[in-house]
Amino acid sequence: MAYSSLHGRKPMERASKISHTNIIASQEVKDLLADCSIPRPADTQTVQDLLARVPQPANQTIKHVIAVDGSFSEALVRDEYPSATITFFAFGSLIFKLDDLRQLDRQTFIAPEDLAKLKKIQRYQFALPTRNISRNGLGLQDSIRLTLHEFLERHVDGESSLYDTLRWLIFRRWTSNPDARRALRYCPNKDVNQCAREEIVLTPDTPYRSECASCGGPIYLADVLRLHELVDDEQGASSVTYYLLSALETLALVNVIHALWDLKPILLREFLFIKDGPLALFGQVFSLIEPLRDLANFLSSYRDPADQSRVLPLLNVVGLEKSGSFVEHAVQIEKSLDKALSEAQAEGDIAGVVLPLSNEYIYKYVVPGNPGGTITYGQTTYWGGKLIFKARDGSTYVATVPTLGGHKSAPRLDDYINLVDVLDGVSELRCSMYDNALIPVALANRLVSLSEVPSSRILESFARGTIRK
Ligand SMILES: [Zn+2]
Repeated sequence: MAYSSLHGRKPMERASKISHTNIIASQEVKDLLADCSIPRPADTQTVQDLLARVPQPANQTIKHVIAVDGSFSEALVRDEYPSATITFFAFGSLIFKLDDLRQLDRQTFIAPEDLAKLKKIQRYQFALPTRNISRNGLGLQDSIRLTLHEFLERHVDGESSLYDTLRWLIFRRWTSNPDARRALRYCPNKDVNQCAREEIVLTPDTPYRSECASCGGPIYLADVLRLHELVDDEQGASSVTYYLLSALETLALVNVIHALWDLKPILLREFLFIKDGPLALFGQVFSLIEPLRDLANFLSSYRDPADQSRVLPLLNVVGLEKSGSFVEHAVQIEKSLDKALSEAQAEGDIAGVVLPLSNEYIYKYVVPGNPGGTITYGQTTYWGGKLIFKARDGSTYVATVPTLGGHKSAPRLDDYINLVDVLDGVSELRCSMYDNALIPVALANRLVSLSEVPSSRILESFARGTIRK
């Protein structure tokens, strides 16, 4: 649900309520509901007690924002039954300078040429067969594996390929760890070739395409994502498209981090990365979570080359949500946030107020679950901790920021990496979530949309030219 649709219910939704009455009155439903619990509203005092103030950073290092976003759409390529479909993916990163944004902020009319300043973007597009389509006589599963492999291998405008980034990420190539290896539990050709081989080990030296020693079938690096396991010839592949898109968006983000790291690590301090949605991966692709946490940890403990005793946390990254349970919860506690913000502002300038979300808080007030359970919220799917942030201009954000030392069930403020700088950067976006007008993400949405004309490379035209020092 879009955030803006929280207010004002559409006529259709009201009409459908009538039939709901009969359902709720049935005994079976009553019995079911007697067993169910739903999160209860958080009381004002609880929220007040947990809220903290975010000071303005003493020395804000963030100068540029990179927003990553994407979309997919399924297209029928044959109308008759059984229908055949292809899914188009478009995703990329938009880059702009905070100074340009501040400039735009002061203008009452935004000219197209001003907006063009923001349009520096790295864009990827590809089409994936998703139903009743075969490549060179391959089954759907193998057609998808091959198509994804070829896409990830591609170098867009001479940049490093997304495979280079995937390899960098899963084998932690930022360290010189000689033990880096990754095992596929089964041969990915086991269904097609009846191959019984298990525990296929991939190392950083394994080519992006190798061959199974037992059945001779192809083994791709992308098989570590295990998406093919969800594909079946009859049901098609629509169940993988969402997981794949979130993995690709994440790779696009890491691709820029990787490029900046290779260029000059210290430059990362000047960038704020914004990902549309939480910093999380669901479905099979959650296997990228551990490497992402390791990367965040590694970058946050970077030592100043000029003074080894000084730690300069390099990573500024935030995921921002526009819909879902957490956004609805943020609306529910809005009054408490407003009160805390105005009280704090009466005492001095701040970046805003923040509510760190612990496992206990989430399961009590936001989503159903057991606050005392052994698996904490997001333990296998998130590479950051959640929080609700009320910025100085009154805009509310539901955000994820990576935490030091991996997953935390009750993150403290100093567990979030570069929290003060990151939230101050977010507050500069100055856009109300009610209008769904998160500037970079909304812009990226439009720019990445399929109808857009291709745009130029991001780091060649931007980082290499304007920020090399
Ligand atoms: Zn095999």
